[in-house]
Amino acid sequence: MPVKNRFAELHSEIAEWRRDIHANPELLYDLPRTSALVAEKLRDFGCDEVVTGVGISGVVGVINGKTNSGDACLGLRADMDALPMDEKTGLEYASKTAGKMHACGHDGHTAMLLGAAKYLAETRNFDGKVCVIFQPAEEGGAGGKAMVDDGMMERFGIREVYGMHNEPGLPVGEFGVAAGPIMAAADEVEIIIKGRGGHAAQPHNVIDPVPAACATVMALQTVASRSVNPIESVVVSICVMNTESAATNVIDDAVRLAGTIRTLDEGVRDLAEARIKEIVTSTAKAYGCEVEINYERGYPVTVNHEENAIMASEIAQAVAGAGRVHYGRPPRMGAEDFSYMLLARPGAFINIGNGDTAKVHHPKYNFNDDAIPYGCSFFAELVERRMPAA
Ligand SMILES: [Zn+2]
Ligand SMILES: [Zn+2]
Repeated sequence: MPVKNRFAELHSEIAEWRRDIHANPELLYDLPRTSALVAEKLRDFGCDEVVTGVGISGVVGVINGKTNSGDACLGLRADMDALPMDEKTGLEYASKTAGKMHACGHDGHTAMLLGAAKYLAETRNFDGKVCVIFQPAEEGGAGGKAMVDDGMMERFGIREVYGMHNEPGLPVGEFGVAAGPIMAAADEVEIIIKGRGGHAAQPHNVIDPVPAACATVMALQTVASRSVNPIESVVVSICVMNTESAATNVIDDAVRLAGTIRTLDEGVRDLAEARIKEIVTSTAKAYGCEVEINYERGYPVTVNHEENAIMASEIAQAVAGAGRVHYGRPPRMGAEDFSYMLLARPGAFINIGNGDTAKVHHPKYNFNDDAIPYGCSFFAELVERRMPAA
């Protein structure tokens, strides 16, 4: 079974919605236009319920099947927010707002889920209930968490959740999915190493925080090489190192380091945090410096539930055809806040091919409209197979 015929018919209409959203990007929770557009379309499609303001600015549409004999309820999720960057695609529907751009394809995710909602509201060929979830603030604002914390799962009786993200480099019409951890937990650390500055020609009269900072960065390499089991995964990247002074003859009072820590397992995450704090504290002390550490935990590990990942792979195969679904791919060290929804309910997150385009978060990236029928068909087929009509 290839893509559903209905989505071939709706393709250009859904692409129009996508381009409209693309031209009008909004950030984090501040999505008045996008969330209003989504809610209006869901009402037009005849959804049984449309609720706005879930998790500050998220939208949930409810579509009842022809029957609902067993209280089954699937949640299908898309993200709506853009990124704070300038667009350089030169497209006729490029962002109208400087400093805002749909560079992660959330415009496409939103449009594809709207397309699926339109089809599902027309056909209702399933036994149960579908909740289409449009979340704010995926890009660093934990909008998925906000919706879960707002009681979304209980309020709508959601039993399982599925999400989708486009992937540049994967051919259009192909999918990738795996069971278990698929994306990393992303934590941040800021380290302020404090000495006592002075004249660079009189180093014996100061406490120089620069060698302490250098030693700290080097010692932190041992978290990956010596503390964590080599079979496990960890990234410790110190990406910022600066002093306030730009002078070449001044030893500054302090050095600021900052970076990111990525892990695929909660135990490794705990270990990495503990080792980083020990190494930073002891190294600073060895150099006679004081130190301040701010360690912030970000998105948790995104873990696909095995049964749901296998099923998602089978459904993707039904849509895409044999050999076009890559099951069991290795995890990536990026992070995704759909992880919070997968902590609350079983489900799976699947990647859809965006073809040979610029990578996400690049100023020349663009969502590939050719992927629309595949993404919509996946969602629709998932509903019809998971909750077959009585
Ligand atoms: Zn992104
Ligand atoms: Zn994204």
